[in-house]
Amino acid sequence: MPIPFIDLKAQYRTIQAEIDAAIREVIESTAFIGGKYAQAFEASFARYCGVSRAVGASSGTTALHLVFAALGIGPGDEVITVPNTFIATAEMISITGARPVFVDVEDATFNMDPAKLKAAITPHTRAIVPVHLYGQIADMDPILEIARAQGIPVVEDAAQAHGAEYRGRRAGQMGAAATYSFYPGKILGAYGDAGIVVTNDEALAKRMEMLANHGRIGKYEHEVPAFNYRLDGMQAAILSVKLKHLDGWLERRREKAQVYNRLLEDAVLTPKEMPYARHVYTYYVIRTGHRDRVQAALKERGIDAIIHYPIPLHLQPAYRGLGYKKGDFPVAERQAEEILSLPLYAELEESQIKEIVEKVLSAI
Ligand SMILES: *Cc1c(COP(=O)(O)O)cnc(C)c1O
Repeated sequence: MPIPFIDLKAQYRTIQAEIDAAIREVIESTAFIGGKYAQAFEASFARYCGVSRAVGASSGTTALHLVFAALGIGPGDEVITVPNTFIATAEMISITGARPVFVDVEDATFNMDPAKLKAAITPHTRAIVPVHLYGQIADMDPILEIARAQGIPVVEDAAQAHGAEYRGRRAGQMGAAATYSFYPGKILGAYGDAGIVVTNDEALAKRMEMLANHGRIGKYEHEVPAFNYRLDGMQAAILSVKLKHLDGWLERRREKAQVYNRLLEDAVLTPKEMPYARHVYTYYVIRTGHRDRVQAALKERGIDAIIHYPIPLHLQPAYRGLGYKKGDFPVAERQAEEILSLPLYAELEESQIKEIVEKVLSAI
């Protein structure tokens, strides 16, 4: 039997009755856009993150744009992030007219290296955007300290970090705001596109709500030309159901990651959970010099393993104009050549993990 990278059908089977009832309720009440299901989910997700406010968005990408727009970032500004993220992080910086500035990452965590942050700050820096990659939060204390000293807001890209913790705090409690994605393949996934911004800043939340809804301040009164980035009611209702199961799923992911660790740690570099972190293993990422061989061997046996991400952003055609070159971010570049994400989901059987591990070991 093939083993998919994630198995959303298997997850649906475990919650089918609740999901089907929730979808029916939305249709019967016709609260399709914003409305009571969106508001209910915003309130529960804010509580889950330990913050006072959540603003629903149409995706993790538009959630990032909302924060940057609400912070007033635009042409002439610089925003610092990392080169080893999904393009949306840098893309939404670019869409405001600002320039993405990259800093290299730590070898052990794949996350922003606080030791390299200061050198990237200029008088034009308007925000710092650490990405909590693969389910582990970046080393936030030193990042926040540098940012605070310079008066620069920190925006956390938490698209891969639902339920992850840093010294007991979740994303959104630390920076000015955090954005989450509910893309179906994410750890808390909708059945379509959805996202959210969480924050403790009431004024920022109000501005994002206004921007997400055509700059509305009344039904037909608009403060500024803005966007339609509203959260879909049906996605919100589905997410409310799934949020109740999230902690259980995370526990099972963490257990399965430990099984992988035990079986693999002598042969490859396994993910390292830092003492400050509760890692939720959005992706279970190994490192090996034989990555391509391992991926091919898995594929031959019908096992899906993925590279997150094969081309660092500073080497992407889209970012040729920034003037970076190979060698500028050696840690991220080397990681991109060695990383491989193995299947991991709450329903994955231990026997399947053993099969995957056997194939990995046979190829190195
Ligand atoms: C998935 C992802 C996004 C974008 O989220 P979408 O909901 O797909 O728009 C942004 N940043 C990171 C790090 C992601 O993994």
